[in-house]
Amino acid sequence: MDEFVFAPQPQPWLTIKNSQKKFPIHRVYCIGRNYADHAIEMGHDPAKEPPFFFQKNPQNLNESASFPYPPLSHDVHHEIELMVAMKAGGQRLSYDQAQASIFGYGICLDMTRRDLQSEAKKLGRPWEIAKAFEHSAPCSPLTEVTNVNSMASGEISLTINGEIRQKGNLNQMIWKIPELIISLSQYFTLYAGDIILTGTPAGVGPVKRGDHIIAKISGLDDLVIDVV
Ligand code: MN
Repeated sequence: MDEFVFAPQPQPWLTIKNSQKKFPIHRVYCIGRNYADHAIEMGHDPAKEPPFFFQKNPQNLNESASFPYPPLSHDVHHEIELMVAMKAGGQRLSYDQAQASIFGYGICLDMTRRDLQSEAKKLGRPWEIAKAFEHSAPCSPLTEVTNVNSMASGEISLTINGEIRQKGNLNQMIWKIPELIISLSQYFTLYAGDIILTGTPAGVGPVKRGDHIIAKISGLDDLVIDVV
């Protein structure tokens, strides 16, 4: 019988609200700029550029209540995002298949070493060191689709030490949830266990040790994180 040369690392997973079962994480896809913050309230249809993606590691997601300030950066930013968890996958999904592939939702912080990202952008380099570091995706447990609305609209906000920093509405997403799934399924084969971070509204900014972060999305349990 084939055996591994050493014990494989444990399968990363998320807890599911009101369930004893765990959600096994496969891949983690993130989308770049996806909120047309002022365009919608001004009555405009924001111009649609094709969505662009990057990835974090499954092990970067964690439900710890603390976020350890990472090394090699002096400008680590918070980005609150709606997290979509998939229960089915495939390639070139239709709209109905995309809708049916959603297992549930959660709140995730796409923590970003902004100084390293700015440097990478300037040099035309990839974003891994800015985005995919240890503990870079503090997140909430998942809430199953049957227990929430479509998440097509609803308030999304982040406060630090009681001060509001980010505030928006899910309906400001330029690329809607099924559209993101459809687009990803053209570039990649999606699988049950995949996670999609859907972008962040305006107001991103730096965190520092000692900060108390409360992240809220209408219909989901709050995510509360201390920066240590
Ligand atoms: Mn982000």
